[in-house]
Amino acid sequence: MYKPHVLIVEDEAHIRRFVRIALEKAGMVINEAGSVEAALIDSASRRPEVIIVDLGLPDGDGKDFIREVRSWSEAPIVVLSAREDEKEKVEALDAGADDYLTKPFGVPELLARVRAQLRRIARINPAQGAFYQIHFGDVCVDMTTCEVTKGGSPVHLTRTELRLLTTLAQGEGKVLTHRQLLQEVWGAGSADRLHYLRIYMANLRRKLEDDPARPKHLITELQVGYRFAGLKD
Ligand code: CA
Repeated sequence: MYKPHVLIVEDEAHIRRFVRIALEKAGMVINEAGSVEAALIDSASRRPEVIIVDLGLPDGDGKDFIREVRSWSEAPIVVLSAREDEKEKVEALDAGADDYLTKPFGVPELLARVRAQLRRIARINPAQGAFYQIHFGDVCVDMTTCEVTKGGSPVHLTRTELRLLTTLAQGEGKVLTHRQLLQEVWGAGSADRLHYLRIYMANLRRKLEDDPARPKHLITELQVGYRFAGLKD
């Protein structure tokens, strides 16, 4: 049976143990590293499918590790972060991390995040360009014709709204930072236009969510960015 390999990079032994036990029970194969150096060696030699990394490590910063790994690997990276580290979270995501867990975290949350990453790579790898149609809730987006329907009725999206929606949907399972979304949709040099992003997200929610005040698909990550959830296979 196929078992995904996960690398845990964390210097606190009790957290490593807790994560290892939880993921092993879920049928994953775990390797542990307690330092940046050990993590680089393991990630290069064993090529884990998912990497979980703490930011505060004894011989360096987890963000530098993320940048280094990102220069040669697309493996999803989930950051373990202390609650007060909003700025660190954003920097880690901008460095190439895909998601984060805030300490303390529970097993169900941890498993959900790791599984979301495994689903995402399964979705992306065999099917580059498979996003001809996107389905979520009762919404369907046809990428070839740019037609959008909700509950079978046509919905008009502007080009920018469509681009924002597809950027989010293609990154399902990832947290996309404000900076990443602004660059992707509005281009380099637009990182300070956060108000654009807020307005366009509000438009998308109004047009596509059943209850725009309680979005199920276009999720806010407070002070960090946005996450897309609920894409159908
Ligand atoms: Ca630490």
